[in-house]
Amino acid sequence: MRRLCLILCFMLPISVFAEQVTMQNVRIWAAPDNTRVVFDVSGPVEHSLELLDKPHRLVVDIRNAKISQAIRMAISQPISADKYLKNIRSAERGSSDLRVVFDLKKNIEMRSFLLQPNSQYGHRLVVDLYDENNQKGAIQVMTQADNKRSKDVVIAIDAGHGGDDPGATGPNGLREKDVTLKIARNLANLINQEYGMKAVLIREGDYFLSLRKRIGKARRHKADLFISIHADAFKDPKVRGSSVYILSNRGASSEAAKWLAERENAADLIGGVSLDDKDDVLASVLLDLSQTASLEASIGVADRVLSGLKKLGKTHKKHVQSAGFAVLKSPDIPSILVEMAYISNPEEERKLKGKAYQTKLAKAMLSGLKDYFRNHAPEGTLLASAANQKYVITRGDTLSGIAQRYKVSMNTLRDSNQLKSDRIRVGQVLNIPAI
Ligand SMILES: [Zn+2]
Repeated sequence: MRRLCLILCFMLPISVFAEQVTMQNVRIWAAPDNTRVVFDVSGPVEHSLELLDKPHRLVVDIRNAKISQAIRMAISQPISADKYLKNIRSAERGSSDLRVVFDLKKNIEMRSFLLQPNSQYGHRLVVDLYDENNQKGAIQVMTQADNKRSKDVVIAIDAGHGGDDPGATGPNGLREKDVTLKIARNLANLINQEYGMKAVLIREGDYFLSLRKRIGKARRHKADLFISIHADAFKDPKVRGSSVYILSNRGASSEAAKWLAERENAADLIGGVSLDDKDDVLASVLLDLSQTASLEASIGVADRVLSGLKKLGKTHKKHVQSAGFAVLKSPDIPSILVEMAYISNPEEERKLKGKAYQTKLAKAMLSGLKDYFRNHAPEGTLLASAANQKYVITRGDTLSGIAQRYKVSMNTLRDSNQLKSDRIRVGQVLNIPAI
């Protein structure tokens, strides 16, 4: 049989071989609720998928394709850390087809799709693996989040890009997806140390999330604010400084804003082409209708965060910018997008890489957030009930004791009462700031 095949193959016209697609590379991205396998292929492919059990495996047949020996070796390594995958192997099938087998740890659901070339990659075949009862999983998360809601102000921090979408890359190779995740984690830690505030990290590792999933996670956690953080590139490497954006339905307020919006929105096409996004047009119309209210809050937060960032140096623009970022299209959650710096500027790239500056950026954003929610704590939150509290000093009170009792910093307490020293007197009335 094999001999027959060899002979047949040999007899096929050369042009068939010339058109054969080569599998050139493979990347595996593990997210908490799915694993994405991306094959770089030299052209569009025709493929089919089949799930088999005993043992669990997923068979991907690709027509008229071959795999390079190097990739064959690379993917045959066992993948112990993955939730779903044991390993991947491949074999020729028939005269010119390729079969890739995923050995699985359990029963899964899957889907696959092709992606067109973009600025970063060529043609790709994407296979997503996720839990069989994915729907159920999502509902469980929701109730858990509901129960846990201790009336903190919830800030959803969205680290831009991830996985197969690196975002922008600096002249010295720093990737936007890495630096956004680091600073997002940093900011989350700072927020979680604040009284009455809680952070939710939208992306927790190096994987891609569609914009819809990002917004969905924020909504499941009942976020009071969605802050998407980026460090983008611009065509002119001299351009520098942070900018803060809110959503605009009327179009971008500047050329740079327009340019960025196009790039950030394109990111969703890089990794997020998905079968369940079909009704996006309808969804976006509905979203637009209920956006006006949260837009006002978005402007408020954006203003304060920009003020916070101004403490670090000259910002790119003096005022909050607006642009049509898809990730900000959340109907009920005020949303802002922060371009922390331009990764395309060599000096800013160097700074972004350093831990000290990452912390500075996180602190600058935090100060803006605190400043906003101090005066605009959502109803029913700890911050709202703590706001405008008055405290009358009695004998034996100390400023530090009061600060401790209300979990506010000494500085905040001094500032909000215009105290020049820590001396207080009996009968004096102190404002206890929310944060
Ligand atoms: Zn970005």
